[in-house]
Amino acid sequence: MQHFQAHLHDEAGTCALGASLARALAPGLTIYLHGDLGAGKTALTRALLHAAGYEGTVKSPTYTLSEPYRVQLGGRAVNVIHFDLYRMGSPEEFLDAGFREDFNGDNICIVEWPEKADTVLPPPDLNLFLSVAGDGRDVELQATTALGNSCLERLHF
Ligand code: ADP
Ligand code: MG
Repeated sequence: MQHFQAHLHDEAGTCALGASLARALAPGLTIYLHGDLGAGKTALTRALLHAAGYEGTVKSPTYTLSEPYRVQLGGRAVNVIHFDLYRMGSPEEFLDAGFREDFNGDNICIVEWPEKADTVLPPPDLNLFLSVAGDGRDVELQATTALGNSCLERLHF
């Protein structure tokens, strides 16, 4: 399985990776974003959405837990659903909100704080790890499925 790592010197580096990822996306992809508060998970997602053509504001859905965005991917409309599960109280909350139905093989799901829902959350195609390193960030991407693997093969950064 494909594996990728890089050092992101500054926020512009994080945004550039988000844009590269946007070009490598495929429908149905689930990406878990791992990393402490302030690691850059939301910054990366925002850059990805803007590069995918979404023009509005992108904030972490801290209280609503999820926020859907409609983008064009290779001429086709796709939902990108951004989750931030940091404030999720229990796995039941995830199920009651109907979040499992969002992972339908068509939507692209990007999940901050997946560990908060690990018993009920569908598995990822890609795990992305961000960590503070000096003034910048280290990033690591691991594919866990064939779909994630093909995404990393298309990733040019
Ligand atoms: P998270 O969603 O992981 O809690 P945020 O994206 O909300 O983190 O915040 C990340 C913070 O780190 C922002 O202040 C952003 O400017 C900064 N940042 C993002 N990427 C980098 C980087 N590569 N180097 C230094 N600072 C960064
Ligand atoms: Mg965040």
